[in-house]
Amino acid sequence: MKKFLAIFLIGMVVIVGALFFHRWSEALLQGESPSQDQASERSLPQRDKRITESGRTAPVSNGSTGILLVNASNQLPQNYKPVELLRLYEQKGRHFQLAESDIEVCATVFDAMERMFAAAGRDDVSGFIITSGYRSFAEQAEIFATDKNGNAARPGTSEHETGLAFDVTAYGKKNFERTPQFAWLSKHCAEYGFIIRYPQGKEDVTGYPYEPWHYRYVGSPAAKEIMDKGIALEEYLEQS
Ligand SMILES: [Zn+2]
Repeated sequence: MKKFLAIFLIGMVVIVGALFFHRWSEALLQGESPSQDQASERSLPQRDKRITESGRTAPVSNGSTGILLVNASNQLPQNYKPVELLRLYEQKGRHFQLAESDIEVCATVFDAMERMFAAAGRDDVSGFIITSGYRSFAEQAEIFATDKNGNAARPGTSEHETGLAFDVTAYGKKNFERTPQFAWLSKHCAEYGFIIRYPQGKEDVTGYPYEPWHYRYVGSPAAKEIMDKGIALEEYLEQS
C-alpha cells in the first residue's frame, strides 16, 4: 500500500511538472515573457521624439502640441542642448538689462522677449533685468549639489535647461511681484508666447512654489489659453 502511494505521488509530481513545462515553453514561443516592463511602458504618458534641426533628438511631451514639458517626471537627457542659443549680452539695442554677461536663451525666445519688452517700454514700463536663462546639465548639477534650501531642481528636470525660460526682476526692487513690471508682464506675457510657468495655487500640479519671476516660452496660442484659464502647463498638455 505504501509503495502504491509513493508511486502515485511521484506520478502526480511528474504530470504537474510536465503541464507547467508545457505552459512555460508555449509562453516563451509566443513571446509572452513576464510583462512588467511592457505594462509600465504602456502606463507612461504618450511621448514621441522629435529630431531637431541640428539632428539632436529632443523629447517632446505631447506629439500634437510640440511643447516641451520638463518637470520632475519628464527629464531631459543629460546631453540635451537646445538649438540656436544666443548670448544676450551680444544682442545690442536690447529692451532689457542683464544681471550677468553670459546669459543665453534660444533665438526664438529672444525675439519674443525683445518684442515683449519693447511693448512694455511703449507703455512706460521699463527697468527689466534678466537674471537667468539657459543652464546646462552640468551647471544645474552644480546648483543642485550646492543648494542648501532644497529648492533647486535636479539636473535634467529644470526648465532652464531647455533654453526656453528666463528669470526676471525689476531694477532696485526686492519683491518682483509688487512691481509695475510684474503687473505689466502678467497681463501681457501671453501675447508674446510666454506663461508664468509656476502659478500661484498650482503648486501641487507643477511641483514648484509660486514663481512670479520665471517665464516660459510656449508660443502664443497655447500661452493665451494657459494664462486665460489660469491653468498650469501640465494641465494644458493633459487636455490637448
Ligand atoms: Zn527660473
